[in-house]
Amino acid sequence: MDLINNQPNITDILHHMGEYNLPGHAVAPPLFQNSIFCFDSYEAFHEALANEAEHYIYSRGNNPTVNLCEEKIAALEHTEKAKLVASGVAAISCAVMAFMKQGDHAICIRSAYSWANYLFRTYLRRFGIETTFVEGNTIEEFEQAIQPNTKVIYLESPATFTFTLQPLEDVAKLAKKHGIKTVIDNTWATPLFQNPADLGIDLVVHSASKYLGGNSDIVGGIVCGNKEDITRIFNTEFMMQGQVPDPFMAWLILRNLRTLHLRMPVHFRNALGLAEFLEARDDVENVNYPLLPSFPQYELAKKQMRGGSGLFSFRLKTRDLNKVIAITNHVRYFKLAVSWGGYESLFEPTALVFKEGEQIPDDRVSLIRVHAGLEDLDLLKEDLSRALDSVR
Ligand SMILES: *Cc1c(COP(=O)(O)O)cnc(C)c1O
Repeated sequence: MDLINNQPNITDILHHMGEYNLPGHAVAPPLFQNSIFCFDSYEAFHEALANEAEHYIYSRGNNPTVNLCEEKIAALEHTEKAKLVASGVAAISCAVMAFMKQGDHAICIRSAYSWANYLFRTYLRRFGIETTFVEGNTIEEFEQAIQPNTKVIYLESPATFTFTLQPLEDVAKLAKKHGIKTVIDNTWATPLFQNPADLGIDLVVHSASKYLGGNSDIVGGIVCGNKEDITRIFNTEFMMQGQVPDPFMAWLILRNLRTLHLRMPVHFRNALGLAEFLEARDDVENVNYPLLPSFPQYELAKKQMRGGSGLFSFRLKTRDLNKVIAITNHVRYFKLAVSWGGYESLFEPTALVFKEGEQIPDDRVSLIRVHAGLEDLDLLKEDLSRALDSVR
């Protein structure tokens, strides 16, 4: 399958944009590791203070290394602006909370990332904001959930636990008709494979800790959108919550972005290769990967995305936790860890989140989340094969 459509300007953005006149003709952008910026005059100082979002004053606001990173990711997402923040969770909370007040209502997909779920289910309720949770597979569910006070629709497509998709173009149209802001977590697909802003979504958030960082060495997040929305986020939640992106984190993202267009097709190829390999085995019940032809929303996936990333899940036919444990202790190249999006392959049985003695739901006992890294595909297949065969 060849869904990858490398737009011609990708390497221009990743390698050149904003890097034409670097001091001393340096090949890599400098790291501005400073807290404050100086002014030439009272007037210049005064002007900057009146509009912090557009000036360098203090590195809790803007910083040149951070801004270069924002400029590139905004260009990749086809949005006017972007704001880098301390983590993916900070990006989610800034983007959502800047557009909500007491008495408002939100709609959120049921399978959203755990802390996004917590934001809507628990945190916002403390401030009198109610949320309707929807499966999100059909537009009718969103239509039915809208109330006169609905202000935000929160999406994650594909969702990184169920891998289900939402019909983005239809949801965006519906939301626009009702004056509702749409926010999507686009971490899974990356801007290389999906641009929700082109489908009408207002705000696109990422955990940069995943593919944008790409090396499992930073924690960061970003919100992308139009100038008005990003400026509002800057002047409210971002400055107040102090979700400061560390300049060194921004510098590492800039470095790692240079290979995004090379890394993503390999994650895609390896994930698809492993998904097909697992699907063909008789001890596997099903595989959840949106770009696999057997996936229930495959057609929608092909319509909305240009490719897929490395994360997917599969369920074994067995419901014997001891077998799952034995397999987990048998894999060698797959590391046992949370998160994903780095160069390395990962193996994470979802049963792990249940406490000792707690009843694990039947559909979770043998559900395993896998991240396909950048290793040799045959090596990964052999590793999984050996581990799965060990409990036959
Ligand atoms: C990891 C993750 C987040 C949270 O990002 P952090 O950088 O860890 O705060 C949000 N959404 C998705 C889909 C994620 O995988």
